[in-house]
Amino acid sequence: MKGYVRLNVGDEAEMRKPHACGQNAWRILRKGTDVRIECLGCGRRLLLPREKFLAGLKCLRPGVSPPEP
Ligand SMILES: [Zn+2]
Repeated sequence: MKGYVRLNVGDEAEMRKPHACGQNAWRILRKGTDVRIECLGCGRRLLLPREKFLAGLKCLRPGVSPPEP
């Protein structure tokens, strides 16, 4: 995905390349300079530099938003 992408914790990310387990849906656990994601297939967690994450990102599905204060 190009341009500005707003990431939110809890969003589901679909990547261009499926994970080794065959699943290609990930949950965003942490955002920032590095993005921590968890594979929804096998639960494996990865820490990727934001740029690398965005380069491999195919689409983003908004997760459940945390309740507004
Ligand atoms: Zn996996």
